[in-house]
Amino acid sequence: MKEYDYLIVGAGLWGAVFAHEMTKAGKKCLVIDKRSHAGGNTYCEFTEGIHVHSYGPHIFHTNDQGIWDYVRLFVEFNNYVHTPLANANGKFFNLPFNMNTFYQLWGTSTPEQARKKIADQTADFISRKITNLEDQALCLVGKDIYETLIRDYTRKQWGRHPKHLPASIIKRIPLRFTFNNNYFQDKYQGIPIGGYNRLTNGLLAKTPVRLNTDYFKDRSYWDSLASKIVFTGQIDAFFEFHFGNLEYRSLKFVSKLIDTPNYQGVSIINYTDPVSEYTRIVEHKHFEFGNQKQTIITYEYPIEWTAGKEPYYPINDHKNTTRFKAYRKLAENTPNVIFGGRLAEYQYYDMHQVIASALKRSKCELP
Ligand SMILES: Cc1cc2nc3c(=O)[nH]c(=O)nc-3n(C[C@H](O)[C@H](O)[C@H](O)COP(=O)(O)OP(=O)(O)OC[C@H]3O[C@@H](n4cnc5c(N)ncnc54)[C@H](O)[C@@H]3O)c2cc1C
Repeated sequence: MKEYDYLIVGAGLWGAVFAHEMTKAGKKCLVIDKRSHAGGNTYCEFTEGIHVHSYGPHIFHTNDQGIWDYVRLFVEFNNYVHTPLANANGKFFNLPFNMNTFYQLWGTSTPEQARKKIADQTADFISRKITNLEDQALCLVGKDIYETLIRDYTRKQWGRHPKHLPASIIKRIPLRFTFNNNYFQDKYQGIPIGGYNRLTNGLLAKTPVRLNTDYFKDRSYWDSLASKIVFTGQIDAFFEFHFGNLEYRSLKFVSKLIDTPNYQGVSIINYTDPVSEYTRIVEHKHFEFGNQKQTIITYEYPIEWTAGKEPYYPINDHKNTTRFKAYRKLAENTPNVIFGGRLAEYQYYDMHQVIASALKRSKCELP
């Protein structure tokens, strides 16, 4: 008989939801995380009265009533609505691409004019063979939107010119023919009042958590403690890189405390110019309508991922997908280990999807 039913590796949202559900069901769980805090990438640092999103800005949104009700068991949400901007060589454009954006680009004032402009802009490209992301974008939105708002942002994001990226990265580019700057179309969105840590702390309130604890540093000890291991870290690391590394894009965050109450007037501005190497500037206080005397902004730079750097975005190209499938097969044949979350499933997940996935998996464990 082992001391715990479940040893959960990773105190991110997936691990925290799973731990909460199993603890609630009377199972004995222990959560470990190699970081000095719980919450995974949703973690916020509280500085100068501002919740700073340490691993990139997080906006909660969902269409799923059940998930919305679930998160509000732990924390209340404010009524933040995400309306980011793009700065293209000093000129501002609304996002997502909508009637405001078309007006700013071309002066079109009716949906009919905007549709006609886009049809003219894409006409030269729709019959061409699509071999890369640039072709794909030109065919979907035409030259002006592509060159002003997509090309250089994408190059910075992926570290390669769109001509050298697969078309499959952009399957569709939503175009909205209304003057609506609300980035998400989901029924519910907001930011937890008091920060995301309240959500994870609520989820983990009744489960013991050990921080600064890397599973791989003493794997056999941790395995010996529990009947089942729940692993939410990198799947390739779990299998000692048997088939090689899975690749990611990483990010570098550079934050500054500025002696002004309001630096940019909005939480996120994307930089779509070719010169600055950052893709966006985040001003955290606007997520919570903060009125502090100072502000904190963060420049976000996409960077190459190498071992030791934070793995942020999986690169779901052919090579990595094939490699992941091989790992997944190993995982399926590994008894008493549950793999879940963005790193173990090598998949970009939004928070509501991570919660849904962990809830689903925890139900499978219960009679
Ligand atoms: C820049 C960025 C912005 C995002 N913005 C949004 C947004 O606006 N809205 C939204 O819904 N979603 C957003 N997301 C997605 C969101 O972050 C994820 O859905 C969610 O955090 C994934 O939770 P997780 O538990 O799967 O992974 P993680 O949060 O990464 O948690 C995994 C945990 O496992 C730990 N771990 C890994 N290996 C080990 C080990 N060997 N030993 C011990 N511990 C280990 C890690 O330290 C980490 O704490 C964003 C993601 C990024 C990268």
